[in-house]
Amino acid sequence: MSLSPLVPTPPPAPLVELENLTIRFTGERTVHAVNDVSLTLPEGQVLGLLGESGSGKSVTLRALMRLLPKKRTQIAGRVRVAGQDVLAMDDDTLSAFRGRTISMIFQEPALALDPVYTIGDQITESVVRHEGASQAAGRARALEMLELVRIPSAKRRLDAYPHEMSGGMRQRAMIALALACKPKILLADEPTTALDATVQIQILLLLRELQRELGMSVIFVTHDIGVAIEICDRVAVMYAGQIVETGTMSEIVRAPKHPYPRGLLASTVHGAKRGARLETIPGTPPSLAEKPNACSFAPRCTFAMPVCQERLPAPVELSPGRIVRCVLAQETVPVT
Ligand code: SF4
Repeated sequence: MSLSPLVPTPPPAPLVELENLTIRFTGERTVHAVNDVSLTLPEGQVLGLLGESGSGKSVTLRALMRLLPKKRTQIAGRVRVAGQDVLAMDDDTLSAFRGRTISMIFQEPALALDPVYTIGDQITESVVRHEGASQAAGRARALEMLELVRIPSAKRRLDAYPHEMSGGMRQRAMIALALACKPKILLADEPTTALDATVQIQILLLLRELQRELGMSVIFVTHDIGVAIEICDRVAVMYAGQIVETGTMSEIVRAPKHPYPRGLLASTVHGAKRGARLETIPGTPPSLAEKPNACSFAPRCTFAMPVCQERLPAPVELSPGRIVRCVLAQETVPVT
């Protein structure tokens, strides 16, 4: 009897694949919001998109659900989610895709939740619309979801309006709404920024717990590296519409290669010694009116050289999944 040779099983395709995503807003002025962004999200992981305001994080996130204004947005590149080409979907496919495959929680639940409907009605409506369930089944799911996100007296809260809840409870209700149709991927757009520190950590712990319990993949947008450290497995650091460094969270915390994440780390209290002076990154992010043709971080970078202003540094893959866009990519930039 002859044995057939062992054929290695190929790794599963990533749930999210962005390839050279480029997004430009047109109108009174042109904004090159996202430039040549490529990334992948494997199943069951939390990927952080980290960077300052205006770095393209939220725009990238919205592109995954096609939530950008049609008229003023030009999109190029490839967006594949759960094997589907998002940019090619017709309206019916897109509507079925949102909620069931992918869902989103926002920074400010007071604006995202509808003030004239109770929390229970909003969750029920989502389940009825996306799954074709009955009102009774939708209502039962709404109660199940409020219990899942640990809202006290969940049965009573079904009939509460958003304004009758605290900020932390509204955020839990929005998570319940986003998870109601059991999506494979959850997008979280700065979901803890508007909360005070104690509630922020409770929501982060809850998200981490739910992600593990439900086996979801999450893309978590934040400007706060301390928050990213708490929740993310991997991170993509964005600056001026580009990804400047990707890697596991621990790779980036222990040995950042790009001066921008190095500056972010040096400016956070997370892991800093008591009484130690925190650094700041001098200057401000550049205007996005022009497509970058040199390193966008050069005006703020203490390591800048003439070559950095002459051409756009190409992304360098140092190891699988560890990519850096800097001429110093092969050297370790020390964290002070
Ligand atoms: Fe600094 Fe040059 Fe690297 Fe840009 S390419 S981050 S300017 S060293």
